[in-house]
Amino acid sequence: MKRPLEDLRISVTDRCNFRCTYCMPLDEYPWISRDQILTFEEIARTAGVFAGLGVKKLRITGGEPLVRKGLPELVAQLAAIPGIEDIALTTNASRLVELAQPLKDAGLKRLTISIDSLQPDRFRQITQRADLQPVLDGIESAREAGFGQLKFNAVVERGVNEDEILDLAEFARANGDEMRFIEFMDVGNANSWTSEKLVSQREILKVLRSRYELIERDGRGSRPSQDYSFADGRGGVGVIASVTEPFCGACSRVRLTADGQVVTCLFADVGADLKGRLRSGESDEQLSEFVTDIWQKRADRYSETRLIQMNSPSGYTPQNRKKIEMISLGG
Ligand code: SAM
Ligand code: SF4
Ligand code: SF4
Repeated sequence: MKRPLEDLRISVTDRCNFRCTYCMPLDEYPWISRDQILTFEEIARTAGVFAGLGVKKLRITGGEPLVRKGLPELVAQLAAIPGIEDIALTTNASRLVELAQPLKDAGLKRLTISIDSLQPDRFRQITQRADLQPVLDGIESAREAGFGQLKFNAVVERGVNEDEILDLAEFARANGDEMRFIEFMDVGNANSWTSEKLVSQREILKVLRSRYELIERDGRGSRPSQDYSFADGRGGVGVIASVTEPFCGACSRVRLTADGQVVTCLFADVGADLKGRLRSGESDEQLSEFVTDIWQKRADRYSETRLIQMNSPSGYTPQNRKKIEMISLGG
């Protein structure tokens, strides 16, 4: 399967100050030890190798990327790499009050902010340890820092927050921002995914259309979301239907874990060890060959296979396969 290599997602830490039930439900994980975490210099060098292979877009993620100390310094190093046109960050926004402006000044172009509920009690239930207000303050700081249109992500889970689809869409729209609803996925090994908890793209769009006239934008290309404009032109909305409408054939992303593994699929069980090569003194050319080889051999189509199994008489059981936790991978 030949897919262009366009988009590198960099996980800068596996730690997080939240414990969202759908992502990282447990208190403790076998955390990556400090000496195994790539330094900013190692990350920037790796990003340079990927840029040489055609990657133009970087996304910094985690875990929660803002818990990694000195993150603006990494952004500045990444922004200086020739060929990199876009640097985005996915965050829970809890530390944006202090960090929005330094990140913007360092060269961060875009922010995606996860927010699954606008109700303080429910927000705490979902995140298990966080308050909503600092997140709302962080969003305000992002606006003040001049990030322009923000993107929001919400994972929709049945029995948890599916009654907030319209409120969340309006929250984003009120400021001309974009809300993206994500189908609940069976990432990692601990989030107790079942198909009953899945709210499908079809259902999400039905709820949205009960209030708004939506205009479908151009095909999603290699983007994971199908995007829509509102008929009145204010803001936008999208759905990431990884479960019911998988897009493996167009998947052009590669992931670098916080401990320097190259992973080609969100549902992978192993990565390829780049850190060992970086630390044993391989040249950029050697690293580049290593990555090219991984990409050329890549045949991932996990979400497509899952859908086939979900529709088969025996069904799909996520527990049958051990995966890398999403916190190490970067969503
Ligand atoms: N901590 C940051 C955040 O929450 O935005 C970045 C990392 S988080 C793993 C990246 C994205 O993955 C978030 O938008 C989150 O909602 C999404 N995510 C996590 N677990 C998920 C799941 N089980 N199904 C769908 N999306 C999930
Ligand atoms: Fe942390 Fe983001 Fe996962 Fe929530 S979704 S537990 S904020 S990494
Ligand atoms: Fe890409 Fe894997 Fe997701 Fe398919 S399942 S879209 S290959 S990350």
